[in-house]
Amino acid sequence: MQLTIEGRNDSVSAGALSSPTFIFGEHKKPLLTGVGVRMTIIDRSEEAARLLLANAIDFLNGGIVLLFSKGGTGRDAKLAVISIQTAVELFAKYRIVRELGFAEIIRKGAVPQGGDLLKSAALGHFSTLGYDGCLERIGEFEWIGEWQRELIGKLQKSRNTLVHFAGDLDVEETQNTVAALLVQVLALFAAGQSRDEPIMQTYRHFLEADNFETLTNHSEFLVEAFDAASADLDAEEILTCWECRQVTLTRRPLDAYFCWTCGLTAQVDAVGFAPCWQCLQPKMVVYDRLNETNGTHFGRCLSCGSTAYVGLCAFCCNIRSESASELVSACSCGSEISRNEV
Ligand SMILES: [Zn+2]
Ligand SMILES: [Zn+2]
Ligand SMILES: [Zn+2]
Repeated sequence: MQLTIEGRNDSVSAGALSSPTFIFGEHKKPLLTGVGVRMTIIDRSEEAARLLLANAIDFLNGGIVLLFSKGGTGRDAKLAVISIQTAVELFAKYRIVRELGFAEIIRKGAVPQGGDLLKSAALGHFSTLGYDGCLERIGEFEWIGEWQRELIGKLQKSRNTLVHFAGDLDVEETQNTVAALLVQVLALFAAGQSRDEPIMQTYRHFLEADNFETLTNHSEFLVEAFDAASADLDAEEILTCWECRQVTLTRRPLDAYFCWTCGLTAQVDAVGFAPCWQCLQPKMVVYDRLNETNGTHFGRCLSCGSTAYVGLCAFCCNIRSESASELVSACSCGSEISRNEV
């Protein structure tokens, strides 16, 4: 992306631009104008984020295979901890670069005064923020509670002990620690602002198929995801996810859904929930809001599997569901669901 700016920049932080001669690109020179400093900047943040993500994905998936494979040993667990903690730190940087720009992961005072940041980074010409520094930066735009910090710090301590001294790991205990940690890391660092974007995707974006299955079926991961959804301050409502069937799908303020278990993100405008005419569970029939015939949508219950027609109730104008073959419907008229003759 090429940006021409005058005196300020919208995509790169002011800190990175403390020198008016700072440029991301390699072929542009600053131009002086009568009203101030005019700079042409080639923003490489998008490319930096892509490289960080690819690297994080490699370390994460390699580590999960080692840690969760049948017959894995304590030695496998040690290698996995180092690999997964590396992935966690790369995901943290990925979040910062996406949110604030490439220059923000460079240590203070080490930002080059010109040239290509990507090339400099590849050649090791400057050092990037440590893990604690990254967490501090992320804390500026993402709420991270004490309990989350504890989880996030646990693997780091384990990794440091292994790398700098010595230690033995219990495989099952390490699996539980990693599973709980990854609930937070995948949501806060990997998915990040995508939780509020209209693109429908899941953690399959970050995890290979087998690893996705392993993780999203791990008991500790499921417990942590449920707790995280329940404690999510941004959650306006918690629903059953139509991808993984866990009750961890949060409805977020910007009309987006986000599932703490499988990472599903989707627009609220695209998918709706209605009470089920068969099992009478509230908000259990999921239907395609954008696809309708004469005001009726086709849906399916996530609990009992019944198919349903979904439309507005003639009595209360709320969403209700109705059997395709029997003369029964269910609506949330009043506080309780009632089963009505159609
Ligand atoms: Zn889900
Ligand atoms: Zn049902
Ligand atoms: Zn009604």
